[in-house]
Amino acid sequence: MIDLHTHSTASDGVYGPGELVEKAAAEGLSALALTDHDSLDGLDEAAAAAKRLGIRFVPGIEIEISFAPGEFHLLGLDFSALRQPLVDAAAELALSRDERNRSVFDKLGELGLDLDYDEFKKEQGTGMIGRTHIADFMVRKGMARTKQDAFDRYLAKGRPYFVQKSCLQLERAVALIKESGGLALVAHPLSLFVSWTRMRALMGEWKYLGIDGIEAWHPTARVVDCERLEAMGREFGFRISAGSDYHGPSRPDRRLGRTAGSRPIDDRYLAALER
Ligand code: AMP
Ligand code: MN
Ligand code: MN
Ligand code: MN
Repeated sequence: MIDLHTHSTASDGVYGPGELVEKAAAEGLSALALTDHDSLDGLDEAAAAAKRLGIRFVPGIEIEISFAPGEFHLLGLDFSALRQPLVDAAAELALSRDERNRSVFDKLGELGLDLDYDEFKKEQGTGMIGRTHIADFMVRKGMARTKQDAFDRYLAKGRPYFVQKSCLQLERAVALIKESGGLALVAHPLSLFVSWTRMRALMGEWKYLGIDGIEAWHPTARVVDCERLEAMGREFGFRISAGSDYHGPSRPDRRLGRTAGSRPIDDRYLAALER
């Protein structure tokens, strides 16, 4: 069993990078990719833990790309060495994320919530504050019943407290990933929220742009749709990846090493990383 899409406290996961690797090893995974949102901060710690525990570590990242109508997330996987342009871009993304978060906090002020964003960030103890942190906070303040409720009523795309953060253009993100020796794969393509006809057209564009593959398997998708994505991806000669998008116990719907339909992720998906 392996996992090619996970999050640590370097973004909105619950476990620290080393802890996450320990958990993966304890559960019998032979390879694990860490793909924190817009952040490379957890990679060194996770790599050291994986070395100690004798499992394969795949350094990665998950970057949000400008897109409508849905959400476009691009995975960078299996970097050979991090190069400065990617490191700089991650810092740039952290800044635009902070800016976005500040606007969300300003808007929440309208609801009578009086809290300084910098203070909040210090309390969270992570370099990357995401909407999940804000949703948790809204639950603690009694503004929402559950985290999902906070997203559904306030924070999801199209809701009143959604603020678009500035994202990278696809071409630039692909170039940054490749400069660091990584592979670029489109994460959970169904989140793009497009028809199958448009999906096929997009795949043609991705191929042209040098994208390496797609994450056909993701726990939010139905098995039949993952199979359809995998088949379509293979037609284009894409590498086919599978992940759990594990965040820890905060999202009990996701389990390490398991993907759509709770299926264990077979080692054969490591072929997506073969050079
Ligand atoms: P951010 O990168 O800060 O905009 O937050 C994105 C994260 O919020 C995603 O990785 C998910 O973990 C979570 N998220 C986004 N949309 C939703 C939603 N509609 N319901 C629940 N969680 C969501
Ligand atoms: Mn997340
Ligand atoms: Mn994602
Ligand atoms: Mn993810």
